[in-house]
Amino acid sequence: MALIVHKYGGTSMGSTERIRNVAKRVAKWVRAGHQLVVVPSAMSGETNRLLGLAKELSPNVTTPEVMRELDMIASTGEQVSVGLLAIALQTEGVQAVSYAGWQVPIATDDAYTKARIQSIDDQRVRADLAAGKVVVITGFQGIDPDGHITTLGRGGSDTSAVAVAAALKADECLIYTDVDGVYTTDPRIVPEARRLSSISFEEMLEMASLGSKVLQIRSVEFAGKYRVRLRVLSSFTPWDLPLEEEAHSGTLITFEEDENMEQAVVSGIAFNRDEAKISLLGVNDKPGIASQILGPVADANIDVDVIIQNVSHDGRTDFSFTVHRNDYARTMDLLKTKVVPQTGAVDLIGDPKICKVSIVGIGMRSHVGVASRMFRALSEEGINIQMITTSEIKTSVVIDEKYMELAVRALHKAFDLEQTPA
Ligand code: ADP
Ligand code: ASP
Ligand code: MG
Repeated sequence: MALIVHKYGGTSMGSTERIRNVAKRVAKWVRAGHQLVVVPSAMSGETNRLLGLAKELSPNVTTPEVMRELDMIASTGEQVSVGLLAIALQTEGVQAVSYAGWQVPIATDDAYTKARIQSIDDQRVRADLAAGKVVVITGFQGIDPDGHITTLGRGGSDTSAVAVAAALKADECLIYTDVDGVYTTDPRIVPEARRLSSISFEEMLEMASLGSKVLQIRSVEFAGKYRVRLRVLSSFTPWDLPLEEEAHSGTLITFEEDENMEQAVVSGIAFNRDEAKISLLGVNDKPGIASQILGPVADANIDVDVIIQNVSHDGRTDFSFTVHRNDYARTMDLLKTKVVPQTGAVDLIGDPKICKVSIVGIGMRSHVGVASRMFRALSEEGINIQMITTSEIKTSVVIDEKYMELAVRALHKAFDLEQTPA
């Protein structure tokens, strides 16, 4: 008997028919003798619908008071899902009970719309499991120290599931979704993308942080910190697929590099359309300039990603960086009022229509010339690179958004990702 956490995403929970299928699948695992905790997302489209309603009433307001209510509203999608799934399980003859985040409780900090899980009390869940019940827990939500409902950021149900698995020391966490695993890149963009039977934790972490939305980045961080055995697999296989087959399907996130692991130089390509670029031209090039520009940005709680400072000419230099697109207008305003006058910048320009495309692979550590191959492939397509950033196992470029799909396809081809590595 094992303790297993299942997570089902929005599409997998998209209708009562699909929820019935989820229940049948979970019932199969229970009948095989396992203890099950299930973490579902809201039905597909529901979180967008709920947030859309709030936006109709308050289009641009981001006061703490409004943010609190956004979480109050968005969290209800998952509450409906757990109730429906518990009923569907009971209909299958399986004892089941549903809980909202606050009932477990899943304790978070108070950062509305992007709260972080701080602790999970496992007592209630363990008691139910011991009584033979399946426990269905809302994804995406928690409760802050003052009792306010919080949510964990878009895609946060992945994180809820992995955190619950960590708290319960579950044997495995299975992330059921609408693709049958982690691919070399998003199969919606490159139909030739190939499913990876396993991916190293480090690569998965980079892929998620660079924009691959198949797993929320924090879920991968949790898996790494608590060594949760994590697998991504399809919820669209027949529910009565033999359990052994299902248990080995999809993509396993591995912590050790074993010999069976695919030895590609580049394992995957990620892209992110959520960033915007900002440049300050002709700032006085003197010590402390970076902190003079980015200090006020950090103080406003705005995350900065790629940063570039040019060589200086006649004591002046250009300084560019990227921020999340949602923070673009706020950052521009802040720079105009608090930074441009102090740094003597000649001009401030911004471009929200950029994207970041990255190649990821632990093989890059031991191979030279990987980045130049990337740049060549992009230049052959006539794509101009605006910014470059590298780390040991990834190279990212910032390019014009309109070339994103072309760039991803060209790189997928240039690194032979549609072929199984020898
Ligand atoms: P869920 O609702 O189950 O959480 P998501 O939409 O959040 O599902 O994540 C699954 C989607 O992630 C897929 O449909 C796919 O389009 C996208 N995706 C992006 N990058 C990848 C990748 N490298 N491998 C697989 N899927 C990816
Ligand atoms: N329902 C939430 C969202 O749409 C959380 C999730 O699906 O993981 O972002
Ligand atoms: Mg998701």
